[in-house]
Amino acid sequence: MSSVIVVGANWGDEGKGRIVDYLADQASASIRFQGGNNAGHTVINDYGSFKLHQLPSGVFGPSCSAVLGPGMVISPASLSQEISLVKEAGVEVDLRISDRATLCLPLHALEDTLEEQRLGEKAYGSTRQGIAPAYGDRVMKKGILVGWLKQPDVLLERIQFMLDWKLPQLRALYPEFEFNQTAEEITSWLIEVSKSWADSICNVSQHLKALQVQGKTLLFEAQLGAGRDLVYGEYPWTTSSNVVSMYAGIGSGLPALRPDRIVAVAKAFSSSVGTGTLISAMAEQDSFRELSGEYGATTGRPRDVGYFDAIATKNGIELQAATEIALTKLDCLTGLEDLKICVGYEGEHSENPIWPQTAALSPVYEKMASWDEDITGCRKFEELPEATQNYITRIEELMGIPVSMISVGPEREQIIIR
Ligand code: GDP
Ligand code: MG
Repeated sequence: MSSVIVVGANWGDEGKGRIVDYLADQASASIRFQGGNNAGHTVINDYGSFKLHQLPSGVFGPSCSAVLGPGMVISPASLSQEISLVKEAGVEVDLRISDRATLCLPLHALEDTLEEQRLGEKAYGSTRQGIAPAYGDRVMKKGILVGWLKQPDVLLERIQFMLDWKLPQLRALYPEFEFNQTAEEITSWLIEVSKSWADSICNVSQHLKALQVQGKTLLFEAQLGAGRDLVYGEYPWTTSSNVVSMYAGIGSGLPALRPDRIVAVAKAFSSSVGTGTLISAMAEQDSFRELSGEYGATTGRPRDVGYFDAIATKNGIELQAATEIALTKLDCLTGLEDLKICVGYEGEHSENPIWPQTAALSPVYEKMASWDEDITGCRKFEELPEATQNYITRIEELMGIPVSMISVGPEREQIIIR
């Protein structure tokens, strides 16, 4: 039996979806344990090309159930669409949705949007899906649980309770706020829009525990990366949930989980989207961004691109308690003449950088030999050019854990397993 957790070492979009899709071949359950419709996990396999937002990326695994854990916030209409899309591609989906997960309503998305607009230049760079307000409601004990979809009376009562508290606040804060729906209308809408998956609502702990007893492999998938963790990330430019590996059990329905492997996914270069400063940013962004396709999967926003930041990544690896690294997008570095790794920071607090006070810091680089060969067809470490091998070995030295998987292209089989 093994429990494998796949997490992001940096700020997200490291290629977790692609790695989970690969590992799902051997797994019996693929589980999302936090976040919601703000995730964008790209999977390219025999079924097609997908950007998954709420379904776990192991949904394509031949004997893998798709579990949405209690730590998630779930946008019901988008989930229905996503399930149809995957089923239309011919995938058999064995879906389990936690009754303890929290619903993310269109009202939350509206609240999120109004707040970003109010903040103007100080906006967080939210995906405006309503994630922060939905989690906020959960903390304030005003959240709407997925399990209540099966108890319409309770659902109606809790929605009324939430509206009584929320609407006066929104009306007071946002002059343009308009909302005419009643609790009854929201309840009917929710029941209608969740029809296609309401039968999958269950106590997911029972399902996962049963698989554990049978010695099956469980595959946990985080959204975003260590730098965006609500507690340990670059607050307040974080997400609204815990993305670190130690939350995997809690957010999945197995709070006493002891993981066997923690795979930190890191890109062979650094990139970041949203607000915040990338210390190792390349001087010239446009051509490399174009080449490496660094645009947000959910929002299409251009990401900042930079050289591999060994300091930030090591911090991420430690926060994740990672046992190994999956290094992705190595092929994007082919032909990059001025290849280097950021091995230190200079400036105030450079010895103990407390993110996000990064503005005053500048990078210290170590020059690396570059390569021109196309590596997308390599399937063994030994097939890689010597300079590429040295680049990986140097990353291993700096990170202190092995690089066990090397991704040389976005498709499922474009990977080197060591
Ligand atoms: P996630 O949010 O961590 O799952 O990552 P995203 O899917 O948002 O972003 C990763 C992007 O890189 C996607 O467009 C992937 O198709 C792509 N990708 C992943 N691995 C590789 C790789 O090894 N090489 C190349 N060229 N692209 C990759
Ligand atoms: Mg993404």
